[in-house]
Amino acid sequence: MTSTTRTRFAPSPTGFLHVGGVRTALFAWLLARQNDGQFILRLEDTDKNREVEGSADHLMLCLKTLGIDYDEGPDKPGDHGPYIQSQRLDIYKEWAQKLIDSGRAYADPYSREELDDFRAQAKQAKRAFLYRHHRPANPPAWDGTTPLRFKSDPKDYSWHDEVMGDLQTGPEVIDDFILIKSDGYPTYNFAHIVDDAEMEISHVIRGQEFISSQPNYLNLYEALGVKPPVFATMPHIMAETGGKKLGKRDGAKDVLDYVRDGFLPETLVNFIASLGWNDGTEQEVFTVEELISKFRLDHVQRSGARFDNKRLEWMNGQHIRELSLDDLYQRVADFWPASADDNDVYKKNVLELMQARLKTLKDLQSAGYFFVDPEPDWSLADSSKPLRKLDNETRRNLLAEVRDALDACSLDPDSIQQCLNDLLVKTDSKPAQLFGLIRLSLTWSPFSPDLNLTIALLGKNAVMKRLQTAIDSIE
Ligand code: GLU
Repeated sequence: MTSTTRTRFAPSPTGFLHVGGVRTALFAWLLARQNDGQFILRLEDTDKNREVEGSADHLMLCLKTLGIDYDEGPDKPGDHGPYIQSQRLDIYKEWAQKLIDSGRAYADPYSREELDDFRAQAKQAKRAFLYRHHRPANPPAWDGTTPLRFKSDPKDYSWHDEVMGDLQTGPEVIDDFILIKSDGYPTYNFAHIVDDAEMEISHVIRGQEFISSQPNYLNLYEALGVKPPVFATMPHIMAETGGKKLGKRDGAKDVLDYVRDGFLPETLVNFIASLGWNDGTEQEVFTVEELISKFRLDHVQRSGARFDNKRLEWMNGQHIRELSLDDLYQRVADFWPASADDNDVYKKNVLELMQARLKTLKDLQSAGYFFVDPEPDWSLADSSKPLRKLDNETRRNLLAEVRDALDACSLDPDSIQQCLNDLLVKTDSKPAQLFGLIRLSLTWSPFSPDLNLTIALLGKNAVMKRLQTAIDSIE
C-alpha cells in the first residue's frame, strides 16, 4: 500500500504570524511537496476570546507571499472540509458522542469554585493536581451546558518523535482533560485529533508547547481507535542574545514586516528553513527547489535555533545577487529613493551597480545621490577612521588633483580605474583615504557601489560639479 503524505498548518487566528509559525508551515509544506503529497491549511478558531479580526486573511496572505501554497484550505475546498474549526462543531459532537457511548467521556459536574478547592487541597497535600482523582462516580448525562471530559486510562507511554527522538512518560501525566467546553466549542486537545484523523493527516509538525500533552493525546487516540500520525516537534527559536525564546521584544516581527523591510520571500523561506535544519553540509543558501528535495525531518536539530539578524541580511544579499536584473527591477518598484526619476534605463543602470551591495531592497533608498546632487556633509568624514586623519588642507588639495585628473580622462570604467590608480601613486595616498574621500564627495553617503562604476554612471558633468562643490565646502 502506498501511503500519502498529508501535512497541515493549523494556526489559530490570533494576530500576527511570527517566524516560528512560518517555520512549522514551511516544514510541513516541504515534506508534502517532496513526497508529492498534500498540504492543508486549517484554521483553529475555537478559542473565541483570543481571536483577532482579520488574522485569517492575514495568515493566508503571508503564506501566499512566501509561496507556501496549500491544496486544501478555507478558500480552497477539498474532500475533507470545512477547514475552519468553528464550522465543524457537528463533527466534534459526533466524535464526542462516540466517546460518551463507549464510556470514555463524561459531563463535568463541578463548578469553578469546587475545582479551585480541589487544586488548593492538592497543593496543601503537596501532590500534583489531577482531575481524575475527583472523577464523579455518577456523572449526570451531558446536556452540552457543562464541559465534557475525557475519561483517561493512565498508563506508561513510549513513542517516537521524528525530531526529539524516543520519548517516555509514566501514568502520572495522564489526566481527564476537557473535550468540549461549556460554550460548545471543542478544546484544541480534542479538535485537532478529530480533524487530523478526518483529514487523514500523516505527519503532525508543531511547536514544543504541545509535547508535554502528547501522552494525553496518545491516550485519546487509543480511546478513539485512531492510529496516531507521525509526530515531529520543532525546537524553540531563540533570541539573538540572552538564551531565551524569541519574543516580540527581541524584535520578532510579522513575516510581512520583513517583506516590507525589503527581504525577499525566498530569503525568508531559506532563512526560516535554516532555523534548526541543515542538510548536513556547509551549504547555507538554498533555492526553494533545493529545500524541497533536501529537507529531512530527521535533520532538524533538537536544541533551540538562534535567530541571527545579521545572517538574515547576509542571506538576503545572496539571494538578491542571484536575481536577474529585470526580476530585481520589478521587485524594487516600491523601494526607490524619493528623488528617483522615471527613466527606466538609467534606473536599471543604478540598480545594476547597487545589486552587488544591497542587503535589503530598502537599502536602495540610500542611492538618492544617483538622481540629485547631495548636500556636502563633512561630519561623515569625521565618522570614518581613514578620512578623519586628513586635515582640511590635504582634503582640498587631493580633491583638486582628482578633479583635474578626471576632467582629463575619458569616463568609461576602465579608464577611470586607471586614472584612480595613477592618482594613488601620484598623491602617495592610501586607497582607503583617497578613494574614501572621492566616494564621499560624490555621494555623501556611507555606502556606494564600486567607485569607477559610480563615476562612470554619474557622468562628467555631475562628477565635476560635485567635486567642486565638495572643495568649496571645505572650511
Ligand atoms: N492551533 C495550534 C496553534 O496555533 C496548532 C498546533 C498544531 O499544529 O497542532 O498553536
